[in-house]
Amino acid sequence: MPPKPAAMTPRPDDALLAMYDQALACHGDTAAGALWPDEAGRQRRYDVMLDLLAGAPAGARVVLCDLGCGTGGLLARIRERGLDHVEYRGLDRSAEAIRLALGKFPGVDFRCVDVLAADADPSALDCDYLVANGLFTVRGSLTEPQMRAFLSRVLALAWPRVRRGLAFNVMSKVVDWERDDLFHAPMDDMARLLHGLAGRRVSMRADYGLYEYTCMAFRDAPAGPHAEDAADDEIPVLRPRLPTAEAVLPWLRRMDSARVYSNFGPLVREFESRLAHQLALRPAQVASAGTGTAALVGAILAVAGRATRDRPLALMPAYTFVATAVAARECGYDPWLADMDPETWMLDPLALATHPRLAQFGVVIPVSAYGRPVPQRAWREFSERTGVPVVIDGAACIEAVLRDPAGLVGDVPLALSFHATKSLATGEGGCVLCTDEERVARATQAMNFGFRHNRDSAGPSVNGKMSEYHAAVGLAGLEQWAAKQREVECTLGEYRRQAAAAGVQAGLFTAPQLSSSYVLYACPDTAFAGRLQSLLAGRRIGFRHWYGQGLHGQTHFTGADRDPLPVTEALAPRLVGLPMAADLSPARIARIVDALRAAHEAA
Ligand SMILES: *Cc1c(COP(=O)(O)O)cnc(C)c1O
Repeated sequence: MPPKPAAMTPRPDDALLAMYDQALACHGDTAAGALWPDEAGRQRRYDVMLDLLAGAPAGARVVLCDLGCGTGGLLARIRERGLDHVEYRGLDRSAEAIRLALGKFPGVDFRCVDVLAADADPSALDCDYLVANGLFTVRGSLTEPQMRAFLSRVLALAWPRVRRGLAFNVMSKVVDWERDDLFHAPMDDMARLLHGLAGRRVSMRADYGLYEYTCMAFRDAPAGPHAEDAADDEIPVLRPRLPTAEAVLPWLRRMDSARVYSNFGPLVREFESRLAHQLALRPAQVASAGTGTAALVGAILAVAGRATRDRPLALMPAYTFVATAVAARECGYDPWLADMDPETWMLDPLALATHPRLAQFGVVIPVSAYGRPVPQRAWREFSERTGVPVVIDGAACIEAVLRDPAGLVGDVPLALSFHATKSLATGEGGCVLCTDEERVARATQAMNFGFRHNRDSAGPSVNGKMSEYHAAVGLAGLEQWAAKQREVECTLGEYRRQAAAAGVQAGLFTAPQLSSSYVLYACPDTAFAGRLQSLLAGRRIGFRHWYGQGLHGQTHFTGADRDPLPVTEALAPRLVGLPMAADLSPARIARIVDALRAAHEAA
């Protein structure tokens, strides 16, 4: 006799399948047909299971595998809640349940599979999140050890295929009475099992009013809604989150077919035109760049050219990120540092229009401090009045520009950065925005070896092009922009609420006043700033003086010529950058706000 195929060897859990099929035959596609006592409890379980997805990156698509999906009740709940980012796959051993599910949801990936079968394709379990709702709550005629073995085998198979986290429920032991046919599992046992899978990244919930609890295991940070909230975890000053590999992949696939990887390929063109569209500009008014610094160089060369003997200086604020000075130097200019206005933290065009060195300035570079809006009109008037070309370093101001493109974009070129720390990020990247298309064309030329109509290098230049890879990230980022902004607003709302409750809101600066990459605390004096910094350091909370103490504090620029800088010198040490991340948790915000409160109390 030939040996029995492995798939046919009976297993204890076959009894479960028979029991579920019988219930379905008896009660049809209802809660009772899936061996649940009532519909309300069934819906509540779905919502608890879906909390597993709370730590998913905003806007990213996630693949959810519903193991033991039955007739697809969880999918119905997902659709009802409008969770469009969830790509659902339902697996069940019951052919009848899958038939009913497909009848309700034609075209959805429902599969009739026995994942424990020797010949099963384990890739059916590949997913971001896996839920097994009710798969381990009923044990029927199985013994407890048999049920535990079933649970362990399924988890051992599933966990390696899960990218982010999994959840399952079992019945509680902390009940007045236990049913013989249900699987009441001690929490300690489940805790050991979960810790074995995921170390400390586990959670158990029994707060939803049923006689059961839900176990969750997460892969890695950020894992689950509150996994990062240990009281002494280090809080980084900025934790950027760019589009995930999954979100970028569709764009990369286009690159595979086009086989163009740089030099203004289809993705860069698409990125420029989508950005233009968002800003009510024409695509020819946007020049992508390899970095924000390259965008500055391109814009300076486009409107001012390289420094000359007569005009060797570039006027800029002392209070800026060093890139402003680096870009000017790249174009041959010596930085001349000017003081900032104490309210706007930026250059004042009216005050500078009569600067004694005006005749020596080849270019003026006002800077958008922390993404604050730089008014286009005032600087166009400055340029017209003085005859000195202006380039605005608006590296961090994409959010302000999106709010008010007409007020911030014009003939004066505006250079943006898409560095990973900026709110629209491509990793490295940038662009020049300008309504004067000739200037944009010249900036592009300056960022492309001086080539314009042919391969003749016709002017001073660098290689400052954006690659197709970076454009792919930018395109995915634009698609997620609205969702990410909503998440950021929510986080900043929590920041402001907690600061107000602690009475420390007065010094707090957040979006929309600044770019959402930054949260700043304007300390009342330098002594306070020193106290705050030692409190933050002691509590493992990151902070940063994003612009240092000003450009003249940087070794390479200590000798830079400058005006007197009383405002910069008074303000720079007092503007302390606090932690920010789109998904900064309320618990972490509480730690930061508490440090602010303690610094005030010590005053
Ligand atoms: C980020 C930034 C830059 C530089 O942008 P990169 O993309 O890093 O080259 C320039 N200026 C300011 C004010 C910035 O914040």
